[in-house]
Amino acid sequence: MTLDSMDSSVITRSRYHSTLPAVRRGYNAVRMKTTTTECDVLVIGSGMGGLRASIEARRAGLNTLLVEKSILTRASASIYAGALVARVPPDYLVKMGLAEPGMNFEASIEDSFQYFVREGARTGGSNFTANQRIAMTVACEMQTRAEELRDFGVEDIYAQRWLGPPAVYGTHMMLPLLAHARKIGVKTRIMTMITDFIRQDGEIVGAVGFDLRKKQFVTFRASSIVMATGSCGQIYERSYAPIRMTGDGLAMACRAGATLTDMEMMGFDNWGVALDGVPQYWIPGSVARTRGVLRNAQGEAFFLKYAQEHRVAGKGATLSLDDNLSRRYGRPFIELVPHLIKASMTEILEGRGKNNAVFLDLTKVPKELWNVDSKGIFTQNLLRGFNLQEHPLPVAPICIGDFKGGGVRIDERGRTDVPGLFAAGDVSPGSSLLYALVTGVMAGRSATQRAHATAVPELTSESREWTEDQAAALETILSRTPSHLGDPGSIKSRIKGIMWKSAGPLRDRQGLQRGLEGLKAVEEEAIPNLSASGSYRKLREAMEAINMVMSGQSIVSSSQYRTESRGYNQRLDYPDRDDTNWLRNTTLTRAGDAAMTVASEPVDLVFMKPEGYEERAT
Ligand SMILES: Cc1cc2nc3c(=O)[nH]c(=O)nc-3n(C[C@H](O)[C@H](O)[C@H](O)COP(=O)(O)OP(=O)(O)OC[C@H]3O[C@@H](n4cnc5c(N)ncnc54)[C@H](O)[C@@H]3O)c2cc1C
Repeated sequence: MTLDSMDSSVITRSRYHSTLPAVRRGYNAVRMKTTTTECDVLVIGSGMGGLRASIEARRAGLNTLLVEKSILTRASASIYAGALVARVPPDYLVKMGLAEPGMNFEASIEDSFQYFVREGARTGGSNFTANQRIAMTVACEMQTRAEELRDFGVEDIYAQRWLGPPAVYGTHMMLPLLAHARKIGVKTRIMTMITDFIRQDGEIVGAVGFDLRKKQFVTFRASSIVMATGSCGQIYERSYAPIRMTGDGLAMACRAGATLTDMEMMGFDNWGVALDGVPQYWIPGSVARTRGVLRNAQGEAFFLKYAQEHRVAGKGATLSLDDNLSRRYGRPFIELVPHLIKASMTEILEGRGKNNAVFLDLTKVPKELWNVDSKGIFTQNLLRGFNLQEHPLPVAPICIGDFKGGGVRIDERGRTDVPGLFAAGDVSPGSSLLYALVTGVMAGRSATQRAHATAVPELTSESREWTEDQAAALETILSRTPSHLGDPGSIKSRIKGIMWKSAGPLRDRQGLQRGLEGLKAVEEEAIPNLSASGSYRKLREAMEAINMVMSGQSIVSSSQYRTESRGYNQRLDYPDRDDTNWLRNTTLTRAGDAAMTVASEPVDLVFMKPEGYEERAT
């Protein structure tokens, strides 16, 4: 299906060009100084994926440059992550007897692989749509890659840190890794945002962007580029993802001709705090997630009713509110998550919530359980005096970026469809530290092989002209007279609202269509007026807004295309999972300046099929 409606809503080169006359007409144009840097391997993003890829390239003796649009590691999702959880079950699951076979420290490679494919998200896809070669590679490699962190100076690789402000959980892993990368000679450049890739003769030969501190337009030439720019979790109004997670890599890759896959699989969780005056915290592993009772504004235990009506309860379910969720409903906790989200959203949408929230009632949780589970206490500390042991806590679904199944399509070696461009971590379909580590190694290694075989390309005159156009477009945004319509912060808020309403936890055709129309309106009315008021920080916001529109379009259109409910694509109009027709990956591509095209391909079930699966007759 070609999305005709998206024809004019995609950011194209000609759109950039159309801003140029404004500069030439004599606006008080900010002229940027331009610098060009050359390296063998350019790595974009200083989270786990980017750091690990840069170490791999540098170890092979290559001139490796790591570029970050913020401060090194600090803007990343990696610093929010408290543990290598795909390998080590969180303490609270162990304490409550809820650790699952594939998520066990002692799990075999096969168990881990099966867990990844069934669950999806951690290595991409959702419920059997993962790239099984990647899932197998992660299952085989993750132990080695985790243990290897010790060589990079991480003292306790299996530590679990979820105490204190969220943006410090992962420091025990990230800071030693960064120190090691620097020690072996990885060069770093901070506060430099990459805005696009230079494509020449069908290959990626460099990138352009700007340096926020030096106030310069920058051009990079490289034999290989590894994108490790993270996800687009900030695209939603309710989000716990770090603020710089705006889908830059997704949009840049798509503009450069790479394929995006399964973009509809954006992950949500049920446990977002919805308390006035308190940030949108997500309640991490805690008694809250395993013991609580969800109630609506009338005090009804609505999930109990939902579970009975929708036959969620499995064999041996006790349906006792005194039991933990897994025993209560006779299913592994992870399988309950989509149902918990759906039930909570339904209560809210049908008016049985309060202030767009439902309530998590922990008041009956025995005191001794609070004491053995530090995460419960952690949550309480952050709630500014709200005592959740005495009062039900308002909660609502939230996008956390912790789970998602879509991104830039890569193979098990971290290669995208476009020669010269590689990807690692959350910008590609999976999501977890171990996935970022393994794909970081793979992408770094493939980038290294190419760099050994290919000299750093010279730019043709056409490419040079193109980079000048990009600089002019940025100058225009910097120079334009500020207006409310073109304020980057307001545009971002508008996009987030549209995305939450149209492509949030529950979706349907009409809502998704409204989402596409809303994003198109943003693109046509607001984006051409983007103004950074001479501020390079605002210019970063402006470019993020452009990328958010494109990432949003890809999520909405893929979700509209997948006419079933699977994993995080919960469609009210197609409520069932449909393995007969939809064991497929959605794909989004754009050739040159043409419209974005959404299509699908059968999942390559190379190692494992769902029980009872019959090939779809074609
Ligand atoms: C709240 C939360 C909790 C989580 N908890 C866990 C957990 O406990 N265990 C686990 O395994 N996983 C967890 N995850 C998932 C895990 O954090 C991610 O899968 C992983 O960190 C992704 O690493 P990455 O390197 O791909 O991206 P990131 O760590 O997000 O790094 C991306 C970097 O790229 C930079 N960047 C982006 N665009 C540009 C650009 N245009 N130019 C230059 N730089 C750019 C960003 O600023 C950022 O620093 C959690 C995620 C979240 C959000």
